[in-house]
Amino acid sequence: MKVAVFSTRHTDKAFLQKQNEAFQFEIHFFESGLQEQTASLADGFDAVCAFVNDDLGRDVLLKLKELGVKIIALRCAGFNQVDLETAKELNIPVVRVPAYSPYAVAEHTLALLLCLNRKIHRAYNRVREGNFNLEGLLGFDLHDKTVGVVGTGKIGKVVVQILQGFGSKVLCYDPYPAPDLKEVSSDLNSLLYNSDIITLHCPLTPQSYHLINEEVILQMKDGVILVNTSRGALIDARAVIKGLKSGKVGGLAIDVYEEEGDLFFEDLSNQVIQDDVFARLTTFPNVLITGHQAFFTDRALTNITHTTLSNLSEFQQGLALTNQIVI
Ligand code: NAD
Repeated sequence: MKVAVFSTRHTDKAFLQKQNEAFQFEIHFFESGLQEQTASLADGFDAVCAFVNDDLGRDVLLKLKELGVKIIALRCAGFNQVDLETAKELNIPVVRVPAYSPYAVAEHTLALLLCLNRKIHRAYNRVREGNFNLEGLLGFDLHDKTVGVVGTGKIGKVVVQILQGFGSKVLCYDPYPAPDLKEVSSDLNSLLYNSDIITLHCPLTPQSYHLINEEVILQMKDGVILVNTSRGALIDARAVIKGLKSGKVGGLAIDVYEEEGDLFFEDLSNQVIQDDVFARLTTFPNVLITGHQAFFTDRALTNITHTTLSNLSEFQQGLALTNQIVI
């Protein structure tokens, strides 16, 4: 089976090549992201393997169908980038990697929170310049702070466990709560308005789009810290900038950004960033941004690669697709 891998970076290639020794697919790696202009690269391929910021909207799917692509294998968990209705209409199954290491993302979430709170990003630079002044580096104890966890699926649950280890008071919200999590409440507003820190672990859906918006921020606790390692569009970045400028929002730590498709995974260090909202965010001392790297651990990549290749193997053998997204 011929597989076209889009948005390939050196690490993806290394992991896929190594594990493909056991599968023997004919894999071609493309550095380009998948979009209307690049979809023709998939000509002659049976499968397309795509990543988080690839465009699998209607036009691209129509083009892929025309080129003979029979399956889309996402090497990620989220699937908000896929027009599932169109994929269904075209009879192109879409498979994904539902779980690879919730610990990778949960631990990165805490890394961001701890770094932002204790100003490690600023302290690191100061010490390198011989500046040992502590002014501006004051943090707070996570112990006894109230942390709201929105979404208590695989990642949210691990975040809750880690926070409990810190002695934080944890409030949780999930519309479909797992029965074993007793902290889950059905009252999202109570969580949003009573938490010192809010961390997002739910998928991006029409219901969760701009969950954090101007109106909601106004009712939050003064100085609230927001953390988002899920999907950028859960947060209205313009509203958060307003909150940061007024001091209502005490800090923001994000690994995802609504318009990250034009930025993340690329070296743009020699270019002028055109996104003014993003550029403004990078100017705040109390904003910490990583470029969608929460998943990026060796175990997670090993599991992503193995599940992706197993998903393709099931398709090749005509087996039921364990990880198909069914709507
Ligand atoms: P999951 O499906 O196990 O859990 C998601 C939970 O969110 C579920 O329990 C679901 O009931 C709940 N939920 C659904 N709609 C909600 C809403 N409107 N409000 C609150 N909760 C809601 O998913 P997961 O593996 O825990 O991943 C969570 C998110 O993390 C994914 O959707 C993905 O976007 C993101 N993610 C990011 C990275 C990264 O590298 N930054 C990596 C993996 C996943």
